[in-house]
Amino acid sequence: MTETPPPPRARAEIDLGALRANVRTLRARVAPRTQVMAVVKADAYGHGAVRCARAALQAGATWLGTATPHEALALRAAGLRDVRILCWLWTPGDPWGAGIEADLDMTVSGLWALSEVTEAARAVGRRARIQLKADTGLGRNGCQPADWAELVGEALKAQQDGLVQVTGVWSHLACADEPGHPSIAAQLEVFRTMLAYAEKEGIEPEVRHLANSPATLTLPETHFDLVRPGIAMYGVSPSPEIGTPADFGLRPVMTLAASVALVKHAPAGHGVSYGHHYVTERETTLGLVPVGYADGIPRHASGRGPVLVGDKIRTVAGRVAMDQFVVDLGGDTPAPGAEALLFGPGDRGEPTAEDWARAADTIAYEIVTRIGSRVPRVYLNELDEANEVLDQ
Ligand SMILES: *Cc1c(COP(=O)(O)O)cnc(C)c1O
Repeated sequence: MTETPPPPRARAEIDLGALRANVRTLRARVAPRTQVMAVVKADAYGHGAVRCARAALQAGATWLGTATPHEALALRAAGLRDVRILCWLWTPGDPWGAGIEADLDMTVSGLWALSEVTEAARAVGRRARIQLKADTGLGRNGCQPADWAELVGEALKAQQDGLVQVTGVWSHLACADEPGHPSIAAQLEVFRTMLAYAEKEGIEPEVRHLANSPATLTLPETHFDLVRPGIAMYGVSPSPEIGTPADFGLRPVMTLAASVALVKHAPAGHGVSYGHHYVTERETTLGLVPVGYADGIPRHASGRGPVLVGDKIRTVAGRVAMDQFVVDLGGDTPAPGAEALLFGPGDRGEPTAEDWARAADTIAYEIVTRIGSRVPRVYLNELDEANEVLDQ
């Protein structure tokens, strides 16, 4: 442990040692042919993009991935200069010129984007690195098969004009987390066809890629040159259906802890929190946990979210409010300041992000990603650069 956590209202401990081990585990799964892109969009799913990106690179990831160009530019600005960064969610008017100057690989899914990026390349006076994204069946971003020939043709023209270099062809899966879903094989087939067309026309992609976390973990035929794991790197399973993190040798990176702010006796029949949806059955003790939906604690977990206080799992009593919620301590009287563990790896008997996802009827991705900026991140097991070599 490299940093001793202070005892604040709440903290999210980010175990960068676990993150590095997860990246090594993922690399071992796809080696030697396939590289790993560490997906650090949305502030690394709430874990902190810059620290997590550095840790992932220390463990052998060779690409970084973000959704927006702004996220990618922020990584460059933080000093991550010698690594390829792909970003894929562009909106008209976005900073293509800055992306070219920052050496980003920029995803193009349609003609509007190609025309903005070529215009920017002309203005900057440098070739833009672009990757063409195919919609092989997800039905979200990417170019439809019917429009592919035109996009490929225009991209080749721009390449011949010296305005772009097509560095990749890629796509994204809709149901990789549902083992055996027929769309998986169908998308793979469409991807192969669209890729073969682009290559026949003269595109020579450096990297062809399709796999997110569940595909990295369970579908080797989708690995191609590069895999793009996000959630698995943070030690969270993409879905309970495909297994637990431990089934894949992964360890949760984030632990969310708070300090119990108040412990008090309350009589039987006492309503608890807004709306009085919880009423004490008997005389009891109530503990105030000073985090709420402003911190990313889902209000949907009112009456259901699990919390470890002392050595017992308690349940959120009544509604989660903006800044706080209450647990019924059943007569126990931990000292104010006692630790309340909302989720973590589970070693100490604490719940996991998956448990909160179930309580809030959502996915664990949303639980970790939404932890708010009011919760300080405390980084554990960070390697300084001098020690990097020790960790390989
Ligand atoms: C978010 C995202 C990923 C990572 O997905 P996980 O399921 O978290 O591994 C990969 N590729 C794209 C295009 C994404 O948007």
